Amino acid sequence: MRTLITNGLIVTAEGSCPADVLVDGETIALVGAGLAARGMSADATIDATGKYVVPGGIDGHTHFELPFGGTFAKDTFESGTKAAAHGGTTTIIDFAVQPKGHALREGLDVWMAKAEGHAVLDYGFHMIMSDVNDASLAEMDRLVAEGVPDFKLFTAYPGVFLSPDDHIFRAMKQTAKNGGLILMHAENGPVIDVIAADLVANGTTDPIGHGLARYPGLEGEATSRCISLAEAAGVPVYFVHLSSRDALEAVSAARHRGSPVWAETCPQYLLLSLDDLGNGFEGAKYVCSPPLRPKDHWDDLWRGLLRDDLQLVGTDHCPFDFEGQKELGRGDFRKIPNGLPAVEDRVDLLHHFGVVEGRMTRERWVEIMATNPAKIFGMYPQKGTIAVGSDADILVYDPNRKRRISAKTHHMDVDYSLYEGWEIQGAPDLVMSRGTVLVRDNAWVGPEAHGRFVRRSRADYVRLA
Ligand SMILES: [Zn+2]
Repeated sequence: MRTLITNGLIVTAEGSCPADVLVDGETIALVGAGLAARGMSADATIDATGKYVVPGGIDGHTHFELPFGGTFAKDTFESGTKAAAHGGTTTIIDFAVQPKGHALREGLDVWMAKAEGHAVLDYGFHMIMSDVNDASLAEMDRLVAEGVPDFKLFTAYPGVFLSPDDHIFRAMKQTAKNGGLILMHAENGPVIDVIAADLVANGTTDPIGHGLARYPGLEGEATSRCISLAEAAGVPVYFVHLSSRDALEAVSAARHRGSPVWAETCPQYLLLSLDDLGNGFEGAKYVCSPPLRPKDHWDDLWRGLLRDDLQLVGTDHCPFDFEGQKELGRGDFRKIPNGLPAVEDRVDLLHHFGVVEGRMTRERWVEIMATNPAKIFGMYPQKGTIAVGSDADILVYDPNRKRRISAKTHHMDVDYSLYEGWEIQGAPDLVMSRGTVLVRDNAWVGPEAHGRFVRRSRADYVRLA
């Protein structure tokens, strides 16, 4: 099957130019001006006049079917990847969880089974390490070799996910040998728990307490600490869901002195704030960790994206229904499941608030939503760009189409939207994954279970770039 995409404006991280794209089977066979005019034949032609032709989005941070706080994040690999596809994402990386006291492999197998035969998008896994010991350290080497090259550890959630500093350090040292990458959730969890308990004891039980307890400075402190550990181990480190100026300052300072420190932020930290947590129990819809910050952090994070102190935007998609799930925390904000629905809107929100509102170029938009996640997570140039030989993961993107976000029309399996009623500009007309059209004019037209596991390479980019 050959598909010719004609008359579009190709936008990559490097630049933009009008050209046609020939897709042959699952990959891009040719990119050039006037392919159609020169008589290039194809089984199907897609006219992209007035549209961008960009690489499909890569969301490096999702949690489908994650068990949390006695319940499960609601989207399955099927519903979650379908929603992501509607929003212009064509690859996701989810987090497999090592069950405490068991092998990493056991957790990975469980998550593989959840995805295989269900995901409609290509998928990879990061591995959450619940135990750091001789056995799990040795296992890390094998997983890196098998295409699961990164490992997430936490300085938050004592008793659940938290690893003490010496464990984090040992895992980091192992990546010096095996070429993997440590991803950190950096907040000072034990101290936050003390503050949260005090708040509840003094009568603050509403969701706002969640935001008040988790000081930005305690994210900054944990970020600095993890950078020191990585520098001592002589390895790169990557921060997930960086939310505050305090953490950004630590990352910027480290990068300024030449340390290979990398970080993502999420749309919710660029567009929503602590105020959203304040509306009585309604605020539960906005409970995630780290929490939404005061509005004055927004400009710093946008600047961080512009200056490349933040290299990409993932979603941390981890949705819970307001009814029946978020409600578990009525009367005690500590029992509200942490997480937000986000996977469907990332590409369009970044286009609207980044490109349309003049905060970044369209090339930088492509870079932070597709190219950098591909590079940092070992999938480039198979994914993340429009180039000969790359997977044909392509969006025909209408930069002018306006749409209104609503839970009534979104495809995520969750009963509310963070952005209910917001009107934004820009949406994909067509979403293609490995040469197969999945979504056309916001309607699902693709096959079921189209997704495939992506074996990712060692984290060389974060060492050498
Ligand atoms: Zn997460």
